Amino acid sequence: MRIDPKIRRDKMVKEQVEARGVRDKAVLAAMKKVPRHLFVEEALSPRAYNDSPLPIGEGQTISQPFIVGFMSELLQVSPGQKVLEIGTGSGYQAAVLAEMGAEVYTIERIKKLFMATRKLLFEMRYFNIRVKLDDGTTGWPDEGPYDRIIVTAGGPEIPQSLVDQLADPGRMVIPVGHERRRQRLMLVTKEEGKVVEEDMGGCAFVDLVGKQGW
Ligand code: SAH
Repeated sequence: MRIDPKIRRDKMVKEQVEARGVRDKAVLAAMKKVPRHLFVEEALSPRAYNDSPLPIGEGQTISQPFIVGFMSELLQVSPGQKVLEIGTGSGYQAAVLAEMGAEVYTIERIKKLFMATRKLLFEMRYFNIRVKLDDGTTGWPDEGPYDRIIVTAGGPEIPQSLVDQLADPGRMVIPVGHERRRQRLMLVTKEEGKVVEEDMGGCAFVDLVGKQGW
């Protein structure tokens, strides 16, 4: 029997996101709204609301729902803010941020994913998301600075270009680690010229590949 996606979504948010401590109402509402099952291949859509990441092709993954919720909450996004995302992938994280009212700029380095996701986001009428094909480790300087930056792939360091393109005040979340698929989720805040890094816990992202990545 097919269960209504809206029911599966509400259950996902309640049991996987809210139950683990994400409280931001805007994040929870956005995740209840975005049809996650449309961001994966049709064959995988029955598993779209499972408590796990899923393959999206090209060796990449759509993040686990909890991670999307946790990172979105850490960002503390307000409507109208400019958010830069590195690692568009399926476009799901970008759609959640767009539902929260952000002006989203997102960069993907793999052409096949970029083409498919740009089309999907357009068809879903997410007109406040701009997608670019590029190495995101050097950011998107023409459109900066950004109130918020989110990196959804893990590299060995925090790219200086991204710190430079972060507004003041600004917040960035980024997985960083010297081992592949094992990182610390870092929260970087900029205030009155001062940049502070905080470790928010362990995580496991695909590689951030590029000039200031692997
Ligand atoms: N936010 C995505 C997660 C995708 S996985 C989602 O919601 O589905 C991370 C993505 O980062 C992959 O698609 C990978 O190709 C991309 N990536 C890795 N290094 C990158 C770089 N330097 N610039 C842009 N994208 C990059």
